[in-house]
Amino acid sequence: LTDSDPIEDHQICVCVRKRPINKKELNKKEVDVVTAPNKQNVIVHEPKLKVDLTKFLENQNFRFDYVFDENADNEMVYRYTAKPLVECIFEQGMATCFAYGQTGSGKTHTMGGDFSGKQQDCTKGIYAFSARDVFKLHHGKYKKLDLLVSCSFFEIYSGKVFDLLNKKQKLRVLEDGKQQVQVVGLKEELVHSVDEVLKLIQSGNVVRTSGQTSANNHSSRSHAVFQIVLRKKGTKKLHGKFSLIDLAGNERGADTMSSDRQTRMEGAEINKSLLALKECIRALGRKGAHLPFRASKLTQVLRDSFIGGKSRTCMIAMISPAMSCCEHSLNTLRYADRVKEL
Ligand code: ADP
Ligand code: MG
Repeated sequence: LTDSDPIEDHQICVCVRKRPINKKELNKKEVDVVTAPNKQNVIVHEPKLKVDLTKFLENQNFRFDYVFDENADNEMVYRYTAKPLVECIFEQGMATCFAYGQTGSGKTHTMGGDFSGKQQDCTKGIYAFSARDVFKLHHGKYKKLDLLVSCSFFEIYSGKVFDLLNKKQKLRVLEDGKQQVQVVGLKEELVHSVDEVLKLIQSGNVVRTSGQTSANNHSSRSHAVFQIVLRKKGTKKLHGKFSLIDLAGNERGADTMSSDRQTRMEGAEINKSLLALKECIRALGRKGAHLPFRASKLTQVLRDSFIGGKSRTCMIAMISPAMSCCEHSLNTLRYADRVKEL
C-alpha cells in the first residue's frame, strides 16, 4: 500500500487470503503453488503440459488491494478488510464484507472463527472482531448518538431464507412500495456486550451446521449472513448496518452438471447469486449503473447495501495453496479481479 492510496478511502476493497497448506494435504504429497511476492500481488503457478507432454508451470499474476499470505492471522486480515468499514455504520452508512471462495479455502475460519475442532472458538473471527470494535465506538466516540445495537443471523439456502437465531425458521422476503426489502419476522436480538454477540454467533453456528454430514455438507451450499444493526433509541429507525457474509462455496456453481436434480438446482441458484453479487458490487463504483439486485435472494436481501453514496464493501477472496485446487483458485481470483475492475 502506498500512502497516497489508503485502503480506508476505497468504496470497494478486494483482498485475497491464501490459507496455509495443511497436514492432510502434505500427507497426500500436495504442492503449494501459490506465492505472494508482496502485499498486493499473488501468483498461481499453474501446472501445464507442452505439446510434447513435458510439464511446466505457468505463472498467473493478479493484483489486489491487499494480499494476505499463509502467515497472516485473522486479526491481521480483519485490520485491513472489515475494520476500516466499522465506523461507516455510525455515520449512517451500510457496510458489507464478503468471504468468497471454494469450500475448504478458509471462509468460515476467517469470518466466524474456528469451528473445525471439538472446542468451537468464535472469539477470533471477523464477526467477533467487528462486534468488539462496534461496541468500542458505541460506548466511546458515538455514545451521544444514543443507538441500540442488535444482531441478526440467517442463511440463504437454495434461494430461501432461514433464521439461524430462530431454529432455522423459514422466512419470507418482501419488497414494499418504497423499494425497501424486508425479511419478514427475522429475529433481531438486542445486544449490550461482545459476550452477548459471541453467544449468538455460537448458537447460530450450531444451528447452521446441525444435521450436516460430510455427504450433504449443507453449509457449503448456503450463504450465511451475520448482521450488526444500529437503530435510533425510541424511534427504532435504522441508523446503519454491517453485513458480514460467509458465501456458499463457489465451486458449487458447477453442480449444474450433477446427475441429481436437487443438487443441480442448488448449483444453479448459487451460480446466479454469485453472478448477481458481482454485478451489484461493480455497480456500487459506477454512477447510474444497473443494479440487478432482484436476480437472486442474496442480492435482494442486501439491496440497501448496494445503494446510496455511503455504502462500503469489502471482499476477501479465499484460496487454497494446493496444486489440486489450482483451477478453483484461478476461478476465484478471476472473479475477484472482475469485482474490482471498474
Ligand atoms: P470454508 O468455510 O471456505 O469451506 P473452512 O473455513 O471451513 O473453509 O476451512 C477449512 C479448514 O481449513 C478448516 O479446518 C479450517 O480450520 C482450516 N483453515 C482455514 N483457513 C485457515 C488458516 N488461515 N489457518 C489455519 N487453518 C485454516
Ligand atoms: Mg464454511
